[in-house]
Amino acid sequence: MEEEKILAIDYLATTPVTAKDKRLKARRDPWMSRVLRYTLEGWPTTVDNELLPYWRRHEELSVREVCVLWCDRVIIPRVERPAIIAELHFGHPGMTKMKAVARSYLWWPGMDKNLEGTVRACERCQQRVKAPPRALLHPQLLPKRLWSRIHVDYAGSFMGRMFLVTVDAFSKWLDVYATQSATTEVTSEKRKTSFAIHGIPERLVSDNGTCFTSSEFRTFCESQGIIHTKSTPYHPSSNRLAERAVQTFKDGSRKLETRSLNETLQTFC
Ligand SMILES: [Zn+2]
Repeated sequence: MEEEKILAIDYLATTPVTAKDKRLKARRDPWMSRVLRYTLEGWPTTVDNELLPYWRRHEELSVREVCVLWCDRVIIPRVERPAIIAELHFGHPGMTKMKAVARSYLWWPGMDKNLEGTVRACERCQQRVKAPPRALLHPQLLPKRLWSRIHVDYAGSFMGRMFLVTVDAFSKWLDVYATQSATTEVTSEKRKTSFAIHGIPERLVSDNGTCFTSSEFRTFCESQGIIHTKSTPYHPSSNRLAERAVQTFKDGSRKLETRSLNETLQTFC
């Protein structure tokens, strides 16, 4: 039961749904209160058209407190849907990501259509769709495990800061640190913090920025037992992954212009 509760709130920046809320809102949603009752007491052989999407799934429905679940997805009453859609849309993650998160945790009849409508009506999401498709990495270039090869680069300066952006080649996990400058000292310090959290990678890929080519940074990598690969335009192990991560971070940050620096970082990392 705990896991199911966590699933429902895991992604959300705020928690618009509590069990008490839901009890009140479920009562205000006549269809949902019938779904709740039928799930508890047994479904009739025929139902109104509005209930058909639930009826088709009735063997997979269950009740936890007042939440009706379809398998492990929480069914959201009509009145709560706008707030949930707004949360899913936060940061303009785009159609694919929004649907992926929603499909992992939530369901309601016509959910996909509602999400598609939101993205189509949003100018910023549309700009993202128009961007040229990203080139796929050759599968052989993918490392075999998490955090074994990381790509690093600096983004900025914007919002008055530089950002040390790290992406894990395996999971595409983004790790972003705001810094005052892009010196070797700062870079090594932030790397140490990152390694303390995620572990030490086997390989670190960077461009030829001074902070990465200095002898101090070389010593730092050697002391940690990390192979440092510097990309060149003609070298196959280029740092495209980090450049793309920087672009993703910059684009995303611009979309979050009303948020503070910390909130922006928390949204990404
Ligand atoms: Zn949008």
